[in-house]
Amino acid sequence: MKLQVSNTNEPVWRSLTVSAQLPKDLKALEELSKNLWWVWNSEGKNLFRDLDHDLWRKVGENPVMLLQQISSKRLEEILADEHMMERINSTYAAFKEYMSKPMRDDIPSVAYFSMEYGLCNCLKIYSGGLGVLAGDYIKQASDSRVPMTAVGFLYRYGYFAQSLSMDGQQIANYEPQNFDQLPIEAVLGEDGLPMILEVPFPGRIIYCHVWRVNVGRMNLYLLDTDFDMNSEYDRPITHKLYGGDWENRMKQEYLLGIGGIYMLNRLGIHTDIYHANEGHAALLNLQRLVDYVQKENLPFNVALEVVRASSLYTVHTPVPAGHDYFEESLLGKYLGEYPAKLGISWNDLINMGRENPDTPERFSMSVFALNTCQEANGVSWLHGEVSKKMFAGVWKGYGPEESHVKYVTNGVHMPTWAASEWKSFYGDKLGEQLFEDQSNPDAWKGIFNVPDDEIWNMRMTLKNKFINFVKRDFKEKWLKNQGDPGAVVNILEKINPNALIIGFARRFATYKRAHLLFTDLDRLAKIVNNEKYPVQFIFSGKAHPADGAGQGLIKRIIEISKMPQFLGKIIFLEDYNMIVAKRLVSGVDIWLNTPTRPLEASGTSGEKAEMNGVLNFSVLDGWWYEGYKFDELAGWALTEKRTFTDQGQQDRLDAATIYSMLENEIVPLYFNKNYKGYSPEWIDRIKRSIAHIAPHFTMKRQLDDYIDRLYVPEADRAAEIKKDNYAKAREIVAWKENVASKWNQVEIVNVDIKENSVGNGAARTGNPIEVSCVIDTKGLGDAIGVEVVKYRDHDGTSEFAGTEPLTIVKKEGNVYTYDLKTELDTAGVFRYSLRMYPNNPDLPHRQDFAYTRWF
Ligand SMILES: *Cc1c(COP(=O)(O)O)cnc(C)c1O
Repeated sequence: MKLQVSNTNEPVWRSLTVSAQLPKDLKALEELSKNLWWVWNSEGKNLFRDLDHDLWRKVGENPVMLLQQISSKRLEEILADEHMMERINSTYAAFKEYMSKPMRDDIPSVAYFSMEYGLCNCLKIYSGGLGVLAGDYIKQASDSRVPMTAVGFLYRYGYFAQSLSMDGQQIANYEPQNFDQLPIEAVLGEDGLPMILEVPFPGRIIYCHVWRVNVGRMNLYLLDTDFDMNSEYDRPITHKLYGGDWENRMKQEYLLGIGGIYMLNRLGIHTDIYHANEGHAALLNLQRLVDYVQKENLPFNVALEVVRASSLYTVHTPVPAGHDYFEESLLGKYLGEYPAKLGISWNDLINMGRENPDTPERFSMSVFALNTCQEANGVSWLHGEVSKKMFAGVWKGYGPEESHVKYVTNGVHMPTWAASEWKSFYGDKLGEQLFEDQSNPDAWKGIFNVPDDEIWNMRMTLKNKFINFVKRDFKEKWLKNQGDPGAVVNILEKINPNALIIGFARRFATYKRAHLLFTDLDRLAKIVNNEKYPVQFIFSGKAHPADGAGQGLIKRIIEISKMPQFLGKIIFLEDYNMIVAKRLVSGVDIWLNTPTRPLEASGTSGEKAEMNGVLNFSVLDGWWYEGYKFDELAGWALTEKRTFTDQGQQDRLDAATIYSMLENEIVPLYFNKNYKGYSPEWIDRIKRSIAHIAPHFTMKRQLDDYIDRLYVPEADRAAEIKKDNYAKAREIVAWKENVASKWNQVEIVNVDIKENSVGNGAARTGNPIEVSCVIDTKGLGDAIGVEVVKYRDHDGTSEFAGTEPLTIVKKEGNVYTYDLKTELDTAGVFRYSLRMYPNNPDLPHRQDFAYTRWF
């Protein structure tokens, strides 16, 4: 027998994580690493970075991993370094001081639900703008001491990391997160072991671990199903953000909303307001209804009255296709038991998610949210208007102009997004109180007194820092997918701090029109290759793995970036994330945004740019529609009106406008340099944008708006209707039930209109109009209101022109007479109609009980 070369089997590996044992004197670091306070307090972040620069970068700015992996030799050095020890102690003291201030008790408490949170790069529970917004929001809640609790998921894989193949094909890599290495803490049960939350699903229980993220003073609780108590079928519920099929999506939204309420109940957290960030979380109100019905013994309608009064839905999508819809069969599989729990029929339940009840429409999470939340809002003024139209079909008796849907324009968390250099600069020049008062434009005025040189130096510092970051962090990735090392060196050498650098980074959805710039390559080549006035473009962004067109755009940009005339002039940075975003928004000169109007609900990256002295050049959509108007000399806008209905033609027009604005205005302005090497006009624009625009788009302003416009009014009313064992809620429901039961019997007995038109039938301004009607109210009496609704027809469009109420002038038993004498005050072509509605000052708005009858 010939002897084998070898004979073995597979090793039996047993895993063992060895964490560095921190010396007693460094225990403060451990506590600091488990609270995200460091993310937006530069002293904390710089401290972790300086413990070990290379390791900090290698672990992706994750302090927990840093402390686990730091060498004992380095720890000894730190212990022996007096200055370092002093920094540790003073940073810890600052943290403790911050934490010692309690949450405010004079404003409503809030439970905030979101599918994603972008808090820091090392916690991969976000995909893009929506998540970063939610993360910024809860950081500000901590800073503003708002009693808020946040609910979300701890994803095993989160969203994908992006790499590119040589030909620019996006490759999505899903890396599992090791929860022992994250800045999170397991919530423990009474027995000291990880708490297991049981959430009933159809035919089984889903078990959840609950993790807490300490976000400064506030708590974010994350559900996690990926462990062995759940079946292989259910463990993936919290695997991927926006991944899986519709059934997995159903399971996720069930878990977030319903499971989220189970979790808050288990933790004993009950708040005044429940806020659904997007429709994904709307089922939270289904479980709240069940709780009121089962635990408080409220009839369904009273429970709904109470739930509605205390909840808010924020919509982020401007198009119906962007909302979640579920087939009835899928919904039935998951929510089939809910009607019995609520004492309603299946049809009643599914109709709460339909714009047109009793039709085969799929169940819309947004419609369900609108039906179970008293208030709803869009995320910029323009998006508020778009949302009113988008949702008008839910309240058919009212036009979009009469909608109760509000808006709060998104902002960004300044301490997170202003570069640490800018933060110290602002502190020195404008005073530390700026951070408390950041949404007050007066607090920023002092920037005009700062010498131009200092602003320019700051800009150049950050530009160079960005370029170094690109050279360091992207060399390896480019070597991998460029193939030719010579080409990579060539690109790196071409990145030029003296060029006008334009940044474009965001999700690669087609509506964001990343391709616009490439409409005329010859013209673009002239712009970037002007030797006296060099211009460079930096792109970054991910496309959803299911979005072929978005991935095609990335591929096209990569192709163009490899053409000789664009080499080193058009650069694409892989794997857009919060680290790349922060460098970009502080390191480039211009932030470019070219969405198809009005599809950018808000957009926030341009707001991050503002507080870093980076100027915006953008379509007047989302936040910039408001921002630009604060000072039109603080940035550039692409015209707001759509000229063409054909998108291709519109794109060509917009592209031509971009080229010509760059050629004729922006580039010459930037390079109109004085003997000191900068353009004073450019600095003036920077100062204007910092002083006049940035203060209006901070997260502090956003949170204050939510509190003032939505949380406080809702909480006041909710408290009122819940008082004395829900007395007012019961009264309102009894009234609504009475109105509903008689509504269809109410009879319009007579209508009499005197237009007083002169001679040839034309009315004149100043002519009186008299309207009166007689209604048999069938006992509803004062509950019946009547009004005139006017529209003005103008240039083929019809414009809402307001309403005027009729007053009751006579009551004979159930028969009421209503009357209005008015005057025509403007000229034009009008349409008008009479509208009957249920009248009750205890209702928050008409859409709360949208019964109407036109006559
Ligand atoms: C801010 C941010 C976004 C959102 O940018 P938009 O301008 O709203 O598209 C997306 N991704 C990351 C990583 C961000 O930091």
